[in-house]
Amino acid sequence: MDDRIPCKNPQCANRILPATALRTEGFCMPCVNARKRQEHDAFIKKNRKTINVFDGINDPVEMLKRVHAPREPDPLIAWVPCPVPTDKLYQQLSADECLRMAGYAEELFDSGSHDLAQEICTCLAAFTEARLDNGLRKWLHDGDLDFYSALPFHRAPPDVRDELLHRIEKDDENRNVLLIALAWIGDEVVVEHFKRWREKPPSWCQTLYVPPHHYAHQAGWELTEEGRRRDLYFRRCTHLVKQVPAEPGLFRAVTEPGTHCPHCAMPLIHLFDVAPAAVGLSNDEWPGHIRILTCQCCTAYETVYAKVDSHGQPQWLEQNVRSALASENAADWIRLPVESLHLGEARLPLFAADPFLPTTFSQLGGHPAWVQDAEYPSCPECAKTMMFLAQLSYEDIDESAEGMLYGFICPTCRTTATSYQQT
Ligand SMILES: [Zn+2]
Ligand SMILES: [Zn+2]
Ligand SMILES: [Zn+2]
Repeated sequence: MDDRIPCKNPQCANRILPATALRTEGFCMPCVNARKRQEHDAFIKKNRKTINVFDGINDPVEMLKRVHAPREPDPLIAWVPCPVPTDKLYQQLSADECLRMAGYAEELFDSGSHDLAQEICTCLAAFTEARLDNGLRKWLHDGDLDFYSALPFHRAPPDVRDELLHRIEKDDENRNVLLIALAWIGDEVVVEHFKRWREKPPSWCQTLYVPPHHYAHQAGWELTEEGRRRDLYFRRCTHLVKQVPAEPGLFRAVTEPGTHCPHCAMPLIHLFDVAPAAVGLSNDEWPGHIRILTCQCCTAYETVYAKVDSHGQPQWLEQNVRSALASENAADWIRLPVESLHLGEARLPLFAADPFLPTTFSQLGGHPAWVQDAEYPSCPECAKTMMFLAQLSYEDIDESAEGMLYGFICPTCRTTATSYQQT
């Protein structure tokens, strides 16, 4: 009954219908497709052109324009990457060059390339101290408020802030992004408005999922009970890198104290071990080292809390929530290597404040890079919002890994917390 015949490829065990064989010269479809692919790859290899748009260019502004230039994906073109990483190029810009780059973003707004203009403004806001006044005015006036990131509004001039405050009253459609932009501005006037809106919620609050002052978390601060701004991150910020530093001792990432997780039995770690001075805290504010104890498996599922005792030793807190998933997965959890990241160069506090920025994210201090929503844990003792201390990006240790581990502290209670986010 089976009138199928073997595929002509001697290495292939497939059998095919005679009708198929007539169409394919005797080969099965997988073999036909494999040959097509080989021919295609050979064609690309033979005809592919290598293009280096950076050849002979030394001006960092010109280099950055080429880095940001959109390129149609074309298998016949191999683009030579920029010899300098994008964040490094931005760091190298002089004050004049920052102005030129900001001017270029303004031109892009004028010519309708809003996405590109926003992308460049975000890089300038994160990696440099460039003023973005005109760019932000154009951004607001072109009406397109579907933000790539609202981070650049951190640098908005008073007239842009006032226009945001004006628009928020009537612009139902964009209220969410307007509030995020205002949170990034976060100056006295914004704080005053957030306070007023908390005391007497305007009618438009009904269109929101959370009250307006909660938006402050997205820009790294909160409104205190007294109605003042309280920052949730340290301005002093240091990149974490693989190179061993000249001056060790201020910081260690991932050490194993030799104890085990009471929930999943994995070895506990000190995710970060930090001299308080490294983030600008005095010895009075935190005596001894800040040691953040956690279980790398359990914290992927639940926030893990600890408290540093009077001897400077961190202790696991009984109220930590047990995760059934963590216990299931602990046995084949890939353990973080011990002490593979060290203190690198100082960077600006917003350097990694958006997860889409072209940079590496592991850092001590500075504003966190939230992969998901901003989620600052509350202190298990005083219930106040905990401060962000440091983050470790799995990608910086292993290119095939993903996700971010965050460390938080409450200096008043000497409690610590860790959490994890991934896309
Ligand atoms: Zn075959
Ligand atoms: Zn555990
Ligand atoms: Zn506390």
